[in-house]
Parts: sequence; structure tokens; C-alpha cells
Amino acid sequence: MHWKKLSYLSEERIKRLQDKKTRAFIRQQIPYSPYYRELFKKIGLKFSDIRTTDDLVKIPIISKEDIAPYKNDPERHLNFVLQPDKDLIKKHMPKYKLLRFNLKEKLEQEYKPIHIHFTTGRSYVPTPFLYTNYDLGKLKEAGRRMMEVFDVSKDAVAINGFPYAPHLAFWQSYYALLACDIISLQTGGGKILGSDKIIDAIERMKATTLLFTPGYCYHLLKEAREKMKDFSSVKEVILGGEGIPAGLRLKMKDLLGRMGAKDVRVLSTYAFTEGKVAWAQCCEEAGYHLYPDMEFIEIVKDGERCGSGEKGDIVYSALDSRGSVVLRYKTGDIGSLEEDKCSFCGRTVPRINTNIERSSEFKEFNLSKIKGTLVNLNEFFNIMMGDPQIDEWQVEIKKKGRDPYDLDELVVYVAPNAKVDIAQLKVGLRKKIHSQMELTPEIIVMDKKQLLEKLGMETELKEKRIVDKR
Ligand SMILES: [Zn+2]
Repeated sequence: MHWKKLSYLSEERIKRLQDKKTRAFIRQQIPYSPYYRELFKKIGLKFSDIRTTDDLVKIPIISKEDIAPYKNDPERHLNFVLQPDKDLIKKHMPKYKLLRFNLKEKLEQEYKPIHIHFTTGRSYVPTPFLYTNYDLGKLKEAGRRMMEVFDVSKDAVAINGFPYAPHLAFWQSYYALLACDIISLQTGGGKILGSDKIIDAIERMKATTLLFTPGYCYHLLKEAREKMKDFSSVKEVILGGEGIPAGLRLKMKDLLGRMGAKDVRVLSTYAFTEGKVAWAQCCEEAGYHLYPDMEFIEIVKDGERCGSGEKGDIVYSALDSRGSVVLRYKTGDIGSLEEDKCSFCGRTVPRINTNIERSSEFKEFNLSKIKGTLVNLNEFFNIMMGDPQIDEWQVEIKKKGRDPYDLDELVVYVAPNAKVDIAQLKVGLRKKIHSQMELTPEIIVMDKKQLLEKLGMETELKEKRIVDKR
């Protein structure tokens, strides 16, 4: 169904569509998955037992640790790849599909993995997620929908500043721009093209649309401002890869305003590798608009599915995917769903509220004598990015006195903005971190240039904001 129609369907029709998709997907595709064939057999579930999205609760929830390869089983992730063979096809493929012209070619197009993304988490081995040609079609379609939700004009001039890597952010942006026939420069980010050239390109091409990660984009805008560049053509900044603290949005708009841009929208996307596509917000206040014909997202708390607006684990099920496929996959992020009509654009597809708490990628801490104090390090992004006194920052976790058996220690490196009273900044920051995170880290003030090097702003794919040296 065309997105224009699909995104305005009634709640009831969306439910019916998703039930139909679920039924077909579980019956016709899931039997090709070695993992799910085995699992269904083990728990005595028949493929035909899953008839609606409500029935999905019969499938056990899995998480990263169930997929990630490990030493004894380096190819474990392949169990999640759909692999039809002659017998399985005979058994599960609908007759009309078997009669297709050029069947062999079509099967290859649908099922042969040809493109790979990796998960970026630090706590597990990176997990490859495989795309077939069919999936790349979906990636392109999702990109087209994203741009429509963002309301980016066909006449846009775009700069893709995501790091060139086998990660979703770069490729989703590439396919989105391709799908919408938008002229674009694929920079590969600071490490590939370099910030100076990217800044020049934005000015010379009179770019309207910037696609970046938040931390690097902010850095780039500051550099451009120092060089007194003319960025008056910029209309929207589309961020991905991590959440955007409200304070950072304001800082970016302020910088762009000083370079001549007016009424810039700073929008964001939400995505995770296993979901294979990204979702967009229609305005800064709105949630991330989902694609009900591609996936089913539920919120789960204490094993129970939550109602609209309730907060819990974000759990993803594919409804129309090939290559690597997961069902009821717990992303590790906490969030809630909005299921009524979007009050900003009027679309009726469910949305993930932007108040997502992204899972921390770091091990538990030993900050006091009581072992395993759980601290959400992502809080630092809100505190540091939102502070107008702070130019750049980095958090380091290390062992006290470099003794592996001692307690963990947190150090915060800060490069303050010009004209800031450093003693005051330290006191204020210490207070803020203590009241919001119950931590009292050591705060070290540093020269900006040195800190940028430490962050790897121009040399790493993604700047090293939080470094775990334990
Ligand atoms: Zn909307």
C-alpha cells in the first residue's frame, strides 16, 4: 500500500493490516529461519498459531545476547537469516509464487544476502545484520517515507555527514536521498572528507539539508562559525545515531542563526541495527513515525505488553523482512508509544515518543564499596551538551590508581567556552552531576584543541564521548 494512504488509515484498519502481515510473514517466511524453526518446535508452537499481532506474545522475547556471535559459535547470527531450500520452499511457499517466471532469479533477489551492517555496541561482539536486494528496496522505501515525514523538499540540496561505515545511519541517509531524487554530497564524515571540505561544500553548494550525528554536527557548526561562513541556505538539520538533548538543539540553532540561516528545523531519527530501517519525526515535538507494514513495535514491562503511553522496553518484530530477521527483539531502549492521531501532521501510524532512554553501552560500575552501582552514562549527554558554558567534553571511566581490583573512577574533561569563570563552572557542574546522577567525578579543565584530539573528532568514525579504560 502506498505510504500516502497507509499513513492516514484508521486505527482499526492499521490493526487489520498488521494482523494480515503477521500471519503471512510467520507462515511463509519464518519457516526459513533456522533459529525460529528450532524455537517453535522446542516450545510446541505451530507457525499457524500466530494469526494476529496479539498472538506474537506467544514468542519468547530475545535480546542482543541471544544473537551476538561468540567464541564457540562465531556464526551464530546466521541462524537468524532466512535460508529457504528446496524442501522448505515446497512446503511453505504459496503456489502462485512457485509459478513465477524466472523463479530462480527472483528467489536470489529476495533471499541472497548482499549487504551488511554491524551493530555498534561495545558490550558485545559486533553482530552482522544481513540485507538482501529485497531489504535494500525496503531501506529505500523507508528513506522515501522518512523524507516525506520530515517534509524535505525535492529541491533540497543535501549533505550526508554520517560516517562512512557499514552502519545504518550512513546507508539509510544515502538511500533516502536516492529515493527522493535529491542532489547530495556523500561526505563520509570528518574522518573521510575532513571538516574543512565539508564546511566549504555546505557553503558553496548552498546546502539546505544537513544529515549528521549530533556531536559532530555541533563541532562542525562551531568551526564554520569561527570561519564566518555563510550558512544562510540551511533549512533543516537531520540528526541520527543518538538522542538530542534540548540544550544542544538550541545551541545549533543559535550557531546557524549567526551564520544567516533562518527558522532552521533540527529534527531527529530513531533506529537500531536490528530494525534495519530508521524512523522520523514530523516536527521537533513529535514522536518517531513507524511503518506498520514493515514492523510491529510493542512496549513490554515485566513481561506484559503495555498500553498506549506507558513506558517500558521497546520490543521490535519484523513483519516484512528478508536476510537477518528477528521477532520480539528487546532493543534495550526504554520508551513509550503514541497510538492516537499525530497532533502535528495528522498521520495515524503509531509513533515512538521521543523520551527514549537509550540503553547504556557500558558495564556496571563499582563506584562505592557497594558493588554494581548502575549509572546511566547517557545522562552526561543531557548535562554536558545542554550547558551553554561548555564547548567540548569527554568522560573517562578508569580504575583507581590503575589497579584492576580497585574501585572505578570517573573523570570529566571539559573545554569551557571563552569568558567562562572556570572555578564557578567546576562548582556548578559538580553540583549538577551530583544532583542528577548521584556521582562526584573529578573535573579536569582542558584546552579545546587538546580535547578535540582526545575525542578523535577528525580522526575517528564517531567521536569518543565516553571512554571506558577499565
Ligand atoms: Zn506527525
